[in-house]
Amino acid sequence: MVLSMWFVFAFAAIVYGAGYSRQCCYGLLLLLVFMLSIARSSFRLLSDWIHHFGEMRYSKDFELKKPHVRKKWDVGDPKNLYPIVLVHGVFGWGTEQMLAPSYWAGAESLDAQARILSPSIGPVSSAHDRAVELFYKLKGGKVDYGDDHSKECGHARFGEECEGLHSTWSEEHPVHFIGHSYGGNTILMLHHLLAEKFFPGHDTNPAWIKSVTTIASPVNGIPFFSSRFWGFSHHGFKRLSVLGLLGTRLLHLIAFLDLTGPKAFIDLRFDHWGLSWRQRGVLGGLQSLLRHDWAAFDSGDFCMDVNVVSTQRLMRAVAISPHVYYYSFTQKLTVDFLGFVLPSPRMMPALVVHCGLSILFGFPASLGGPDEHDHATLREWLHSDGVVPIRGQRCPEGHPFVESASLPDSDTPKGIWIVDEIESDHLGIAGLPWDLGQHHKFYGDLYQNCKALSPSPSSQHLRNK
Ligand SMILES: [Zn+2]
Repeated sequence: MVLSMWFVFAFAAIVYGAGYSRQCCYGLLLLLVFMLSIARSSFRLLSDWIHHFGEMRYSKDFELKKPHVRKKWDVGDPKNLYPIVLVHGVFGWGTEQMLAPSYWAGAESLDAQARILSPSIGPVSSAHDRAVELFYKLKGGKVDYGDDHSKECGHARFGEECEGLHSTWSEEHPVHFIGHSYGGNTILMLHHLLAEKFFPGHDTNPAWIKSVTTIASPVNGIPFFSSRFWGFSHHGFKRLSVLGLLGTRLLHLIAFLDLTGPKAFIDLRFDHWGLSWRQRGVLGGLQSLLRHDWAAFDSGDFCMDVNVVSTQRLMRAVAISPHVYYYSFTQKLTVDFLGFVLPSPRMMPALVVHCGLSILFGFPASLGGPDEHDHATLREWLHSDGVVPIRGQRCPEGHPFVESASLPDSDTPKGIWIVDEIESDHLGIAGLPWDLGQHHKFYGDLYQNCKALSPSPSSQHLRNK
């Protein structure tokens, strides 16, 4: 293994020295990183296995250093105990998936004081549909996607009947939201819908939210998804690549089969699209499957609205509120090497591949080409956590932000994003977190921070402002 790695490295150096194409050299270096990542992961798994079953550690020093949280939250007694709502990302799940392991690696039960909620919402639905589902999961009632929206996108207006995890939700009883990956986009879309008073019968406003925390959320989009590799275009899905087509066709097939058992692990929540044989009948469902006439492909009402153009259009509509605290944790696990941006060998092997492909094929789709950006901006689009570029994660373009490190510890302003960086890959802190010691500390500190924020003033007070 070591010899073959050195062979790849030496060959890459020769190719680079001989002036062959940068892509060829990059591919070889990527292969080297992938092999290192595989070796490292295997070693770690073996080490954990020995530790677990043999009660001995192969090497006590071999510990992943992720995620590392730079800022130390230092707070006293809780000032509020508003519910904290964890919002999962694409292909994620909440506590309703009884047989699935925790998406948050147990972070739902880390705090004995606070009420931590983790509802399940559409794992591949659009930000709009997920935000609406999230509202009714908390407030209760029949999910209403909106008359105009449902007509425009071609799905049913109403969804499931929800009991309401926080039925007293209001300006006086707000919630803290913490979103991982696309969960952050979902929260911001809900923030917008609350401001627009979208939900019939509910006099909402952004002050229903006490704080928003996004973790590696693609709030400015992911260029790779609209590259020729996947082909998810900015307006619908008419340019799907073979891979994009296979992936969406597989989802369509799962929705058609509508098997009850696997829903205990993950539920696609496609009922409003009516793709199941139970809703269309076997023949009707098969015809739909063969034609692949899922209306999401024309309307863009799908999680891949995370491409740069669609996301920035959606996020531009989100008006930052002076009553809400905003925190953004960006993640990065890439390095500069010989003038290239490479994934770190500490990244999960599958993400190494994704990271490399997104650098090779992802830029400049949607962004006008690397030559049109200054060096610093270009680096922000190339460095990533394996899935979302740094520039995609920070906060919606145009929103005010400040680096956490530049703030005094006691200063937590509202109406401005406070940005911090974590050294981790995309699944290091939610989804498939490995290092639970660091993971628990991160969420413990996060909950402490939420509880330390001043209670909301009365609704009358807000109206007078
Ligand atoms: Zn929809």
